[in-house]
Amino acid sequence: MGTSGMTMKLKDKIVLITGAGSGLGREMGLLFAREGAKVGVNDIRPESAQNVVTEIERAGGVARPFVADVSSSAAVRKMFADFLAAFGTIDVLVNNAGIGRTRESTELLGTTDLTDEDWRLMLATHLDATFYCTREALKVMIPKRSGHIVNQGSIAGTAGLPFVSNYCAAKAGIIGFTKSVALEVAKHGVIVNAIAPGFIETPMTAPLEPEAKAWVIANTPLGRMGEPADIAAAALYLASDDAKFMVGQVISPNGGWTTA
Ligand code: NAP
Repeated sequence: MGTSGMTMKLKDKIVLITGAGSGLGREMGLLFAREGAKVGVNDIRPESAQNVVTEIERAGGVARPFVADVSSSAAVRKMFADFLAAFGTIDVLVNNAGIGRTRESTELLGTTDLTDEDWRLMLATHLDATFYCTREALKVMIPKRSGHIVNQGSIAGTAGLPFVSNYCAAKAGIIGFTKSVALEVAKHGVIVNAIAPGFIETPMTAPLEPEAKAWVIANTPLGRMGEPADIAAAALYLASDDAKFMVGQVISPNGGWTTA
């Protein structure tokens, strides 16, 4: 496995990717494994995690499933205990798990339509989870004076998007958290950064109504949505030694998106 004749970017690195059973996390898992990493595939649904583990193994890579709801502090503690028992350490954490909406329907929700549950679930799934997993990873990375953490932000957190104020608040929170933790742990050899993707073709964006998709494309200078590989490439960079002088940065592969 890997690219013959070229150095693998994550040779023997131990990686945990949350929400890796689908979309962007899955793509990162496949790419990181090709680059020599041993990959912990977290997802909330066992079959999603197992399917990606099987895909990685079929391609000749090493992976294990870790089923956990990362919005739960107790579940994250248990997942890390299991992960460390299986792999012995952690070199790279990617906080990627997420949800695009808190209800089944794709109707637009203004801020006055949001229930306490719509707010809590969104913040818990993105922001609480990023804190819980980062806290556990740092307990290993700080003492060994190395590690990379990559957090999944969004243009929703940088530029803002209408009718998803809970999602935008969660993503902006992740970016603020990234910048603070990055400054705190840089002197301990731990590198923390974020990605802020534009709109990417994944199962999360598949249910977008045609008018919403047209609006997205009209606001993207490249005139199309991105591919998961565009984001996996940015994650690989931030997870690897190539990013050893990057601290608290937000990289935004977004096709030129600038407006809300
Ligand atoms: P996706 O295909 O829906 O993948 C997200 C995965 O996370 C799903 O397998 C999901 O499981 C899982 N998940 C949800 N809640 C979880 C929890 N509490 N614990 C563990 N796993 C959980 O979406 P994606 O597009 O790849 O998105 C990945 C990340 O990128 C998210 O943080 C998203 O906000 C962010 N992002 C996406 C885009 C985009 O355009 N796609 C743009 C910017 C940022 P279920 O399927 O069961 O929910």
